[in-house]
Amino acid sequence: MKGLRIVIPETLQPEMLDRVHDGHMGITKCRLRAQQSVWWLGLSTQIAKLVAQSEVCTKCQPCHPEPMMATELPKRPWQKVGADMLDWKNDTYLLVVDYYSRYIGIAKTPITTSAGVINGLKSIFSRQGVAEVLVTDNAPQFSASSFSAFAAEYDFIHVTSSPYHAQSNGEAERAVKTVMGLLKKNNYPYRALLAYRVTPLHHGPSPAELLMGRRLRSPLPVSPAQLKPRWPNRKAFAERDKRLKQTQTGDFNRRHRAKERPELTEGQCVWITNSKTPSIVLRKADAPRSYVVDTGSEEVRSNKTHLRALPDLPATQTEATENAQKEGEGERMLTEPQARPKRDVKIILQVVVSLQQFDHGGLIHAVSSEQVMLRS
Ligand SMILES: [Zn+2]
Repeated sequence: MKGLRIVIPETLQPEMLDRVHDGHMGITKCRLRAQQSVWWLGLSTQIAKLVAQSEVCTKCQPCHPEPMMATELPKRPWQKVGADMLDWKNDTYLLVVDYYSRYIGIAKTPITTSAGVINGLKSIFSRQGVAEVLVTDNAPQFSASSFSAFAAEYDFIHVTSSPYHAQSNGEAERAVKTVMGLLKKNNYPYRALLAYRVTPLHHGPSPAELLMGRRLRSPLPVSPAQLKPRWPNRKAFAERDKRLKQTQTGDFNRRHRAKERPELTEGQCVWITNSKTPSIVLRKADAPRSYVVDTGSEEVRSNKTHLRALPDLPATQTEATENAQKEGEGERMLTEPQARPKRDVKIILQVVVSLQQFDHGGLIHAVSSEQVMLRS
């Protein structure tokens, strides 16, 4: 026994390892189970290796998101904008949000095809100017060839986020939530939008001031002096924005136990967790953490968060073993102090036996009492 755990002889270890793995419960659970029943030297590492090589366990690994990357504040207003669609009362709207000022523009799109979206964007761009960069998700309206033709014609860069990975289009997603909240609570959508645009952000001036350098007049009376054009302190705003984003990303990463997954390599077999299909990594996509993978029937883009490296490939195994060793350290720290003396005893006893042959009285006596102590 080792404490309350049964020490398993080497010949039975593979079978016991299999039994520990019953139910494919992943590294942590398998280790917890083993801790209640069996022990042998290296068990923890062997569990990690077995689980890493288990296809069932790999496919079902929990989906901890990647650490959130703070989006940098653009240098100028309306330089980089995000767009998304929103449905309200049987109508579809195009929403555009400025990454700098958080100013939100919406346009009703009578048709939800890319022609409708393009028309909505033209209307918004005619008021605020054409942004340099437009970020959208991969909705069909944004991925049609007519949309790339429009981007070329209007001379802006179109960046798409990874499919099913809303986090990378976070600014637009947040704006959609804001607007939906406004629309649900108000019978006068335009007044509600105006209220949003003239209300200071909680870390700086109002979206309207940040975008246009002036406060907008609204039904709430203000002194005319307040309406004089005046640029807010943009340097101070940039600093507050940076601090806010640092806090937000830190909170997110802690709350979701975000973990950066290792990069994947070309030709690696992966499991797409949201579509539950096996596929092969073709190449890295342009966007960070994104890969183009071949599912056998089509090429799709997917974020690393949704890709699990499948076992039986050199890269996966090395990485899994490394992780296992790292994770195993905690347990080894507990087991080693007890495991080591046993080996030390064996060595000391051998030394004693060797020394006794030379019969150096005092020394042997001293070593012998040590031996008795160790034996007890
Ligand atoms: Zn398994």
